Amino acid sequence: MQQTARCSKRPLGIYLHIPFCIRKCLYCDFLSAPGDEQTKIEYVEALLHEIRAQAPLYDGHEVKTVFFGGGTPSLLSGEQIRRIMDCLHTVFSFSAEEGGAEVTMEANPGTLTPEKLADYRRAGINRLSIGLQSASDEELKALGRIHTWKDFLCSYELARKEGFANINIDLMSALPGQTPGGWMETLEKTVRLKPEHISAYSLIIEEGTPFYEMYGEAAAPRGSKALPTEEEDRLMYGQTKAFLAEAGYGRYEISNYSLPGFACRHNISYWERTDYAGFGLGAASLLENVRWSNTPDRRQYMEASGTAGLVTPLKQAVQHLSRQEQMEEFMFLGLRMTEGVSSRRFYREFHIPLEEVYREALRKLMSEGLLVCGSGAAADGEDSRYRLTEWGIDVSNYALSEFLFA
Ligand code: SF4
Repeated sequence: MQQTARCSKRPLGIYLHIPFCIRKCLYCDFLSAPGDEQTKIEYVEALLHEIRAQAPLYDGHEVKTVFFGGGTPSLLSGEQIRRIMDCLHTVFSFSAEEGGAEVTMEANPGTLTPEKLADYRRAGINRLSIGLQSASDEELKALGRIHTWKDFLCSYELARKEGFANINIDLMSALPGQTPGGWMETLEKTVRLKPEHISAYSLIIEEGTPFYEMYGEAAAPRGSKALPTEEEDRLMYGQTKAFLAEAGYGRYEISNYSLPGFACRHNISYWERTDYAGFGLGAASLLENVRWSNTPDRRQYMEASGTAGLVTPLKQAVQHLSRQEQMEEFMFLGLRMTEGVSSRRFYREFHIPLEEVYREALRKLMSEGLLVCGSGAAADGEDSRYRLTEWGIDVSNYALSEFLFA
């Protein structure tokens, strides 16, 4: 998010990690586990303590977006979410621009009730991100999800009834046993519901998950155990782009699509390297080019939350980004977005032309048809925007590696 002349405070995104799930999905390597009611109560207390203790670090910032991620944040009660939001409003200054801050909560089907949804709305949640993954009950079962398509529909309709007018649906392709026809069915059923936003990722087999045992490198070769082949995976990716474009969903990032005006402001702020404050187990923060993560150890987190000098015991993996690392991130993250990176913004941040730093990489990628440059007027003068072409996005690992200094 850009700073404007009217706003002298620096923009800030807040991420809150809620590490509870009813049970683990078979493919999941996120920091989440089942938790009983008492554990949730204690966790929320720890989170509130952390927020209050760390807030002074972000003096001079104004909150533009809040994101409750997990895990399954919708396992918290309306009252717990209200207390967290009240705490944030007490210790942070919130933006009144663009209709106020975007406040997203991830939710899973089967965990929502009308009362909870009404409470969430009252607490200030104005965007829901619901994890569907697939519209096929068979595929959902293979993923180890806790819900069926019908459960999802019920949650989605409840959310609409309670007035949520900005909903994302998370989908996942290249699932075990999935065919391109099956994936199309998921896309069609999803689009029929007219969500404002759709995220569509390919399944990645992560080490340490049950899926790794079943489908990973050590298991039988890909394809022989009901995972789609590379070609089918590519085909589904192509189907997603074409079908969602046809249905009016603009792709604004490699895996994210939205109706006009509904791109996720929180995610964009990550890709634009806006400062963000992460609270909760394992949550990452970025402040003035210093990045750190909280401990992923639940016991350590809870113990640290009881100490006065909270900041030190929680912070791990502190990384002071060098100027070159900042430039690399600027390119890596910015080029994920379809509107690409702005040379003007690069100059504002680094006081050197982008073309001077990356002359060779730009020339090479443009000559290979992976990158294009468009010029236009920006609010503060002429601007050149560099963005990956469709082909460049397809081979983005290669294209982005050209911006590494080492
Ligand atoms: S619901 Fe999400 S966070 Fe929880 S186990 Fe499944 S994939 Fe992981």
